[in-house]
Amino acid sequence: MKSTIHLNWVYPFEHENSINGKGKILPSFALALFFLLKCAKYMKILGIETSCDETAAAVVEDGRKIISNIVASQIDIHARYGGIVPEVASRQHLLSIIPVIQEAVAKAGVTWQDIDGIAVTFGPGLAGSLLVGVNVAKAIAFATQLPITGVNHLEAHIYANWLDFIPYHSPPSEEERVKFPCLCLIVSGGHSDLVLMKRRGQFEKLGRTRDDAAGEAFDKAARILGLSYPGGPAIEQVASSGAPCLSLPRAWLKGSYDFSFSGLKTALWHLVQKEAVLADLSLVADAAASFQLSVVDVLVTKTIEAAKELSVRQILLSGGVAANKTLREHFLTNSPAPVLIPPPYLCTDNAAMVAACGYYHFQDNQLSDCDLDVVPNLSLG
Ligand code: ADP
Ligand code: MG
Repeated sequence: MKSTIHLNWVYPFEHENSINGKGKILPSFALALFFLLKCAKYMKILGIETSCDETAAAVVEDGRKIISNIVASQIDIHARYGGIVPEVASRQHLLSIIPVIQEAVAKAGVTWQDIDGIAVTFGPGLAGSLLVGVNVAKAIAFATQLPITGVNHLEAHIYANWLDFIPYHSPPSEEERVKFPCLCLIVSGGHSDLVLMKRRGQFEKLGRTRDDAAGEAFDKAARILGLSYPGGPAIEQVASSGAPCLSLPRAWLKGSYDFSFSGLKTALWHLVQKEAVLADLSLVADAAASFQLSVVDVLVTKTIEAAKELSVRQILLSGGVAANKTLREHFLTNSPAPVLIPPPYLCTDNAAMVAACGYYHFQDNQLSDCDLDVVPNLSLG
């Protein structure tokens, strides 16, 4: 296994007039041009993501430019069970992983010789799902002799903020570039973490959920309200025709940056029983809007409190729940510091964020080898 980064430099003067040809001395202007071209060589990383129920592969240049981004979602398969079935997820990854990687490479218009490294999620996530991505990545690295780096899925979510949000902003303005220290809120189906990022690769966890993650709460609330899976988009859609007029609690957990959403879920269940909510579609819409606002209120208030206390220069949102419009609007209106939020398709699981994060691992010489194994309960900070 190689331990250094494999760089495919283009040697532009390997012809008869060059030093490599008939022994003539390379003119100085040609040397300058050579080094210019060498510096201009972009580093392409193949990202692979299989931590949960998305099989994803992407090719990203220099940690920023998305060349291809393929996501095969298993939502339709798990929807009938109202949640992810781990065994089904890993079997589905096995079926999808090779076609997804092949498509990512083909859509990027590159060959294996053009790829400079492989980045793969090795945790946290479902063990059986992670194993598929990690083993395929190691097999490709072995066959192609490309270097490989294992990526923490939570760190990858944060790095979605480094990507050029084509067609949103390309490239991001100076204002939109990440500045340290920044405060990262990662809200997904499995996590609700508040993390201080002091500089690249340096994280300090400030808070986490004590029970359900924010996305998990959306998924369970949707089930209570008779809505489809995944619950986040379903609740957001139904809530748009309702009003947040029903009284639901907020767990502030004063003196701590931790979150808790299971009490809110139970309160919604009692409300649905007491008010016969399911019998009236307009009440379902009001309950959805009220639930959504309770979650948003807690996430925004506590994150902004931490941002003020720590005098951070930016707030970075990430994870599937960051796709929620109400959450995005509340942050953008109330935050004292600039807020960066990836477009919705980069908030939910994808491999472009893994490739972006992996690019910085390679820059910092953080390489993995054939011993790379999955760590289902990996944390950040
Ligand atoms: P994972 O937890 O596997 O990392 P993602 O980062 O893809 O998954 O996040 C998926 C979660 O995000 C699900 O729980 C889903 O309900 C939630 N979600 C997706 N879109 C929205 C939305 N618009 N509003 C609220 N939650 C959302
Ligand atoms: Mg995720």
